[in-house]
Amino acid sequence: MKKYLEPAKEIDVFGEYDVIVVGGGTAGLSAAIASGRNGAKTLLIEQFAYLGGTATASLMININGFRNQVEPDGVQTVKGIGQEIILELHKLNGLGKSPYQQKEYDIEKGELSYSYCVDPEKFKYVTLKLVHEAGVDILFHTYFSDVIMEIHPLPKGGRRDLKGIIVENKSGRGALFAKVVVDASGDGDVAARAGAPFWQAGPDDKALKDNIMYKISGIGEAKFGSCRYGDSSVVWGPGGVWGRNDAWEISRAEVKTRLQIFEHFQEILEKNPQLKETGAYLAETPPLIGIRQTRFIEGEYKLTADDAITGRRFDDVVAISSCAIISYYGYRRYLEHEGYDIPYRCLVPKVVDNLLIAGRCISSEQQPYESHRAMAPIMAIGEAAGTAAALSAKENVKPRFLDVSRLQKALIEQGVELRR
Ligand SMILES: Cc1cc2nc3c(=O)[nH]c(=O)nc-3n(C[C@H](O)[C@H](O)[C@H](O)COP(=O)(O)OP(=O)(O)OC[C@H]3O[C@@H](n4cnc5c(N)ncnc54)[C@H](O)[C@@H]3O)c2cc1C
Repeated sequence: MKKYLEPAKEIDVFGEYDVIVVGGGTAGLSAAIASGRNGAKTLLIEQFAYLGGTATASLMININGFRNQVEPDGVQTVKGIGQEIILELHKLNGLGKSPYQQKEYDIEKGELSYSYCVDPEKFKYVTLKLVHEAGVDILFHTYFSDVIMEIHPLPKGGRRDLKGIIVENKSGRGALFAKVVVDASGDGDVAARAGAPFWQAGPDDKALKDNIMYKISGIGEAKFGSCRYGDSSVVWGPGGVWGRNDAWEISRAEVKTRLQIFEHFQEILEKNPQLKETGAYLAETPPLIGIRQTRFIEGEYKLTADDAITGRRFDDVVAISSCAIISYYGYRRYLEHEGYDIPYRCLVPKVVDNLLIAGRCISSEQQPYESHRAMAPIMAIGEAAGTAAALSAKENVKPRFLDVSRLQKALIEQGVELRR
């Protein structure tokens, strides 16, 4: 590729924080709430003007993974902030019926079932309210573009300390400093720019491909749609493409899938004549194709297929996943144990300090990712990362050296399930 040497220039410092969370998806919003509630001066930056990431900006409204679905299912493996969001949505009549044949638990008693469909507008409202009430500063319409590093070369210790980030928004290009940054961009944008090692699955690893979701409204009483709320349903639209994290590839994937949408909708109408009678129409395409997987950041531990399949427990557990591994069990089948642990070390990247990873890009092999990528465990991972970031900032200790038992105690006090 041809290169251009951008001239150096002085830029404004937009702020200085204890914790900056990059990305307001289900991981990032949970991290921001946890960080704010733990007393850290916290900033959340997000490219869109609402929270939820894939859940709202890609209309993936089916939140899976609060507990296993077949026996033993006695433990609700995701509680904490994820549970709080579902209970808030329940109060606002913002939950739809899950597409799964699942054992239903009594939400009135605060017990969650495996999966819920959410009304995306109510999800945006509830999550924004919780982040705002946690005292978190929010910079919407803001794009992370680079890192501010302090590099200590070998032989003097060889460290890469992340000191802050560079963003672009309506105010221009600016610097933001933080004691700890949580990379919840989904794609590991911050970690990759900071020089953390990462890997990406290819076709040989059976990487999950991307789909565009879209919303059909006016479905009335028609027996249609697995993810229904109100008079609408979200459907899995055209896909089979790879967005990855290259702007040209993402654009090609968007163009290809969006050009197929009306044909796809027409096929749905042909197969479901009832929809023609109710006057169903294509109501909305989201701003972003549903990107399933891109980078995985190499952490101090990499979750293995064996860990997930055998239900391994770890001393440094900070979250639990009880979702199936698609390539092992097939879609809509469930683990034969109540869930496996996600260790703190999967959130701590190799090489780079003052950085934590939250969300779908944590340190993992392909198979366990296919389980813990579901949004309930993702929210638990986010809560763990945000809490760890706040504690690290408060105690002035690098996240790599944080006392994990202190973190676990804080998480349990917040209502997180760690099976301890
Ligand atoms: C088609 C599809 C179907 C799925 N089906 C299900 C399902 O049925 N049930 C389920 O539970 N899960 C499902 N998943 C998985 C789940 O939705 C994701 O794994 C999860 O939402 C990832 O959350 P995240 O917060 O890690 O990342 P994301 O949701 O990707 O959030 C990242 C956030 O960071 C922001 N961001 C990224 N880069 C930047 C930047 N440079 N600057 C500023 N902001 C940035 C984005 O706008 C976004 O808000 C599905 C996913 C897809 C794509």
